[in-house]
Amino acid sequence: MKLYSTLTRDKRDFEPAGDAVTMYVCGITASNSSHVGHALSSVVFDVLHRYLEFRGYEVRRVQNFTDVDDKIITKANEEGLSSEEVAEKYIEEFFTDMDDLNVQRATVHPRATNEIAGILRMIEGLIEKGNAYPATDESGSVYFRVDSDNEYGKLSGRTVDELLEGVRNEIEPGKEAPADFAVWKASRPGEPAWDSPWGQGRPGWHIECSAMALEYLGETIDIHGGGLDLVFPHHENELTQSESFTGEKPFARFWLHNGLLRLDGAKMSKSLGNLVTVRDALDSNSADAIRMYILTSHYRSPLLYDEDNIHTQERAARRLRQAATAESEGNTGESVDPAPFKTRFIEAMEDDMNTPQALAAIFDLAHEINRGRDAGHNLTEAQGEMRSLVSVLGLMLAEPEASEDGLSDEDIDARIASRAEARTNRDFAAADAIRDELIEAGVAIEDGPEGTTWSRI
Ligand SMILES: [Zn+2]
Repeated sequence: MKLYSTLTRDKRDFEPAGDAVTMYVCGITASNSSHVGHALSSVVFDVLHRYLEFRGYEVRRVQNFTDVDDKIITKANEEGLSSEEVAEKYIEEFFTDMDDLNVQRATVHPRATNEIAGILRMIEGLIEKGNAYPATDESGSVYFRVDSDNEYGKLSGRTVDELLEGVRNEIEPGKEAPADFAVWKASRPGEPAWDSPWGQGRPGWHIECSAMALEYLGETIDIHGGGLDLVFPHHENELTQSESFTGEKPFARFWLHNGLLRLDGAKMSKSLGNLVTVRDALDSNSADAIRMYILTSHYRSPLLYDEDNIHTQERAARRLRQAATAESEGNTGESVDPAPFKTRFIEAMEDDMNTPQALAAIFDLAHEINRGRDAGHNLTEAQGEMRSLVSVLGLMLAEPEASEDGLSDEDIDARIASRAEARTNRDFAAADAIRDELIEAGVAIEDGPEGTTWSRI
């Protein structure tokens, strides 16, 4: 399999260094509900995990939870809860969301607050080697000395000078140089804190991933994953800490980064306040539709959040479901041969996980099954293969739940007639309201030259 690594900036043949593939994927900070951007990253690395298993590898995937940081502390103060309660609430929510999206659990989901001993060992080691130092103002924080690694910047491709552009150029008290970053943060009164040789404090964000990767996967890991927004500073800092501490290079043999979700052309970020939660998306779409919407784009490309596109995927998922359950209309003794489609699927996935092409191969197989059904061929083997391939993409092809609103076919026809009348009268607000009501009731409509058609989603 070829994978593109951000570190080498090219596609290379991937084989695990040991028996099992070791994969570390940066997880969420448990300070808020997960949004669709988290779903994107989770689905991408879930599919990679599933595909590597499909190819016969054992996979050991670690995904952490950042369960102590400034955002969690702020949230706890806002909600009158403890930091632990806030983190617990959003970790549970994350698992519910991801289970509903059919994202498989990682082998280990470590939490920063359970890993303090390993984090402290790493910080002490870094200080001994001259890579980190206690704050010069004796605040009790500890900083990584960026100057101590002459390869710093190799992942993001930036020089230290470039990295500092746009950053306040005054040196923070306690730091030797502006680019140095905290590996241990002294705590203020009332904040969650752990004892350390430098006083009460908590780990910096970057060091927790270095420590957990080392603890659960060893000094060199096969694949390190995360969103493109994590390349700098998070992954650059993880890399320098890990390689400085262990002396082993590389820390990660392949660095994989998924493109970011964009909303109305702007990056979906919490600061914009216009994010869509995974729960919102799951309330109006099936997991299969959300996954297919994500996978119809290559994982390294940016993905535009588009409700209409997701609704379109409901129909596409239904086509696959119908092919997977179709019954042949005869018994010619001939069978539909899935082999060429499976070959295409594998070729696509081997090429840096080209899921749009892999999906196209599955749709062509569905088409072939439908032709075979009409021709009276045996479909059993082809349908079995199709179920196997869709499961690599984490699609369930489950029957949608019956609409609670329970609109009958006649109800739907009547509403579509009313909508057509509203459109004729150029009352688009009324027409849109009817369309929204139908979507809400699980009915997709499509306007074409022959009029409007509908289907239950
Ligand atoms: Zn991380």
